[in-house]
Amino acid sequence: MSNNQQITISDEVKEFLKSNHKLLINGEWTPSSSNEKIEVFDPATEQLLTEVDSGNAADIDAAVAAARKALTGEWSKITSHDRARMLDRLADDIEANFSALSEIEVLDNGMPLELAQYSIAGHGTTLLRYFASWANKLHGQTIPVSPAGAINGESLTYTRKEPIGVVGAIIPWNSPLIFAILKLGPALAAGCTVILKPAELTPISALFLGHLIQKSGIPKGVVNIVTGYGETAGQALSEHPGVDKITFTGSTEVGKKIVEASIGNLKKVTLELGGKNPVVIFPDADLEKAIPGAARACFFLQGQNCMAGTRLFVHEDIYQVVIAGIKEMAEAFTIGHGLISGNDFGPLISKTQKERVMSYIDLGREEGAELLTGGNSYGDQGHFVQPTIFSNVNGDMRIAKEEIFGPVLCAQSFSSQDLEQIASEANDTPYGLSGSVWSQDISVAHKMAMLIDAGQVSINCHAAVDPAIPFGGNKQSGWGREFGAEGLEAYLKTKATTVIF
Ligand code: NAP
Ligand code: MG
Repeated sequence: MSNNQQITISDEVKEFLKSNHKLLINGEWTPSSSNEKIEVFDPATEQLLTEVDSGNAADIDAAVAAARKALTGEWSKITSHDRARMLDRLADDIEANFSALSEIEVLDNGMPLELAQYSIAGHGTTLLRYFASWANKLHGQTIPVSPAGAINGESLTYTRKEPIGVVGAIIPWNSPLIFAILKLGPALAAGCTVILKPAELTPISALFLGHLIQKSGIPKGVVNIVTGYGETAGQALSEHPGVDKITFTGSTEVGKKIVEASIGNLKKVTLELGGKNPVVIFPDADLEKAIPGAARACFFLQGQNCMAGTRLFVHEDIYQVVIAGIKEMAEAFTIGHGLISGNDFGPLISKTQKERVMSYIDLGREEGAELLTGGNSYGDQGHFVQPTIFSNVNGDMRIAKEEIFGPVLCAQSFSSQDLEQIASEANDTPYGLSGSVWSQDISVAHKMAMLIDAGQVSINCHAAVDPAIPFGGNKQSGWGREFGAEGLEAYLKTKATTVIF
């Protein structure tokens, strides 16, 4: 099957790809001290897109030094209103460059263009503006107590919210620009300075963003961008004694390494990790919504999505109807390059990821699950895998418990009326990131939502995301929350001050 469709890249993006990409350190584009490059490929064509610098420990040192200096420099004197204004300016500039950024995101990551456009315009700039609007609303409290030693009434205690300090932000490849914005928005609103380490596979939109940051008025050294490998740049950042906090999105395995690396100076750590998220459909659900909802929950971003609803639990009375509906949708996806209009299902990010997903599909067959559709790679170029559905999966199978991070739905039916029993099966993974419940019965829906052990549960939709809704994982899906007031809090530290008159 040939998927060798001709794509057109705009002149602006072609020019950007051709440029000599360097590291953004202290406001200047600086070559890596390693002189080594990382090649970046289009996952849909396997063609070389560009090369970026491979930052190493010495580059991280320089970036941390710049961020430390900037933390107490001009940035700390800027009013919170001006911090907000700079973030809004950055959001304006992202909007003005919307077309180029969307195209870059498709080339770099493989996602369909419409999704890139939605994620940047509908999500990225909204996120940045949401956090911009927090910048001038960070205040502490006055606390009416008399500490030991004070004569009652003759003391005052108040708290201040201070930036947590220098932040190392390490992000994955599955939504590269959004993750860069999601880390920078709250960190900068809080007054922190940042070293951003994009994923080696998708560094391009972060570099484009770096050029916009230079124009935003944000002082030099406040945002530093070091492209590089996780084992070198990422590790050096996590270990660095000059870094006060690591905010990480990625795999649970690397999250654990980051915790170990952070021990030296006990830096604060926020982890947004993997998921194996249940979608539970009750017999009274509105199937016109539940069927497409469950299909999108699993196959969005080709399943390379931490919130993907890849564990499907359907009541036995409607199981066949639901599975047939999702199968029909899975078979109707148009697979191909994200820049070709009408394609709505892209490639996986890399050959390694494709092999990993294919090995899970083999495992599913070996474990005795029934392959309903898909199960093969697709096309003669690119890392495409067909949307795949396994039916009659049981909870003991590895495909039911482990994060595949690809387009593989693992479906099973339930007959129980006992919500606790259903929830205990839905919760039977090491993860606890997200989940959804589909039912018209408000008591069943809310009770089930309470019983699902996850940071976020949606009712009659899957993975509702908004900058104001806290997001994060229970169990091995992470530490802490992003988005919303809690997301901002993660970049602040509280100082209590007491005066005795
Ligand atoms: P990953 O391998 O954990 O990589 C994430 C980032 O960590 C990359 O920048 C990577 O650099 C870097 N890294 C790798 N080894 C490191 C080390 N020893 N020290 C410091 N940094 C290191 O994850 P991924 O494969 O890119 O992304 C997929 C995973 O992310 C999935 O498990 C998914 O569920 C999770 N995810 C979670 C969320 C969430 O919000 N919970 C969102 C999206 C994705 P390189 O690029 O050089 O490897
Ligand atoms: Mg790597």
